[in-house]
Amino acid sequence: MKQFIVGPVEMYPSTKRILEKGYTYFRTQEYGDMAKECLKKVAEMMGAANSTTIYLAASGTGAMDAVVDNCMTGNDKALVINGGSFGHRFCELLEWYKIPYDSIDLAWNEVVSAKDFEPYENKGYTALFVNLDETSSGKLYDIELISDFCKRNNLYLIVDAISTFLADDYDMEKYGIDVTIISSQKGLCLSPGMSIVSFSQRMVDKINKEGKPNSYYFDFKPYFKNIERGQTPFTTTVSIMYELKDMLELIEKAGGSDKWINVVKEKAEYFRAKAKGMGLNIPDYPKSYTLTPVYFEDISASDVVKGLRERYELFVNPCGGQMADRLLRVAHIGNTTKEDIDLLLEKMSVIIDELKNKQLQGVF
Ligand SMILES: *Cc1c(COP(=O)(O)O)cnc(C)c1O
Repeated sequence: MKQFIVGPVEMYPSTKRILEKGYTYFRTQEYGDMAKECLKKVAEMMGAANSTTIYLAASGTGAMDAVVDNCMTGNDKALVINGGSFGHRFCELLEWYKIPYDSIDLAWNEVVSAKDFEPYENKGYTALFVNLDETSSGKLYDIELISDFCKRNNLYLIVDAISTFLADDYDMEKYGIDVTIISSQKGLCLSPGMSIVSFSQRMVDKINKEGKPNSYYFDFKPYFKNIERGQTPFTTTVSIMYELKDMLELIEKAGGSDKWINVVKEKAEYFRAKAKGMGLNIPDYPKSYTLTPVYFEDISASDVVKGLRERYELFVNPCGGQMADRLLRVAHIGNTTKEDIDLLLEKMSVIIDELKNKQLQGVF
C-alpha cells in the first residue's frame, strides 16, 4: 500500500513509533518546555520567529473556524479569495459567524490576478482570507500580489497555509501575514488532529482587545496566556506534539526546512516530467509542489482513482463535485520515493489504457 494523498500522508517510521515509546504527563514543565521549543522551531520555519504561536486539538478546519470566530467581529469586513472548496469553506465560516464579507470567485483553474483586486481597492475591507494553496486543484496563489494589496489597503492578511507549508517557500514576516494556519497531517507528516496557528503582534492585540468568540473551548485568549509556559487550557494532542518533536529532528537531520522543501519539489518535478512524457495532461496554472493535478478529457478520473486503489492499493486523491470525473490529484508530501512514483505511473498507465480500450469497445 502506498499513499499519494494530501493528508493524512504516509508517515515516517520513527514518527509512527512515538505512541509505543510513550510520553510524559503534559502538565509538567518538561512537556511545556518541549512544546514551546517545537512551536518555536515551526514558527521559524514559517518565517515568523517573533510571532505568537499556539496549537489546537482540532483538524485544520477547526483552526479555520476558530480563527474566523476569534479574529473577526461584526465590525470587520472580509474579502475571501474563493477559488475552490477550501476558499468556499472560509465563505461558509464567515457566513456562519455573520461577518460581512465579499468573495473573489475564481474557476477551478484560475489564480487571482491584479485585475481581480481592482474593484476592491479602498472599499473599507479590514481582512483578507486566502488558502494559499487551494488544495482542491493544487493551484498556488501569488502571495506577493496578495500581500501588496493588503498592505496598500491596510488589511489583516489571514492565510490558510495548511497544504503549502513545507512544500513551498513561505515567509510570514516578509509578506506581512497576520495569521498562519497549518495542521499536522499534511506537510508535517504527523497524525491528524493538531493544528498550529501563528499570529502577528497586531492580531494578538486585536484579539485581546475586541475578540468575543462564540466558542468557549476555542477562545484564543487563554491559549495565549497558557502558551507562555508551553501549556494549553485543556487536555491537548500530547502524542502529536511528541510526533512533531520527532519530525523536527528528521527535518534538521535532512539539512533544515529549505532542504526538506527541496525534496518535495524534486518529487513533484520528477512526477510532472514523467507524467507529461507519458502524455498525461497537467494543467498549467501556477502550482504548489504539494500535489499535481492530472486532467482527463475522455475517461473518468474517478475510475482511474478507483482502479489504482482497488487493484494496486495505490491511493491518490479524487476530486469532489463537478471535477470528480475530470481531475485527480497526486500528492508529493509524506514518506514516498521516486521508485514509488515510478510504480504509480506504471500502474496508472495500465489502467488508463484499459479504460480507453473499454471506451473504444463501447463505441464500435
Ligand atoms: C487539508 C486542508 C484543510 C483542513 O482540512 P481538515 O480536514 O479539517 O484537516 C484546510 N485547508 C486546506 C487548504 C487544506 O488543504
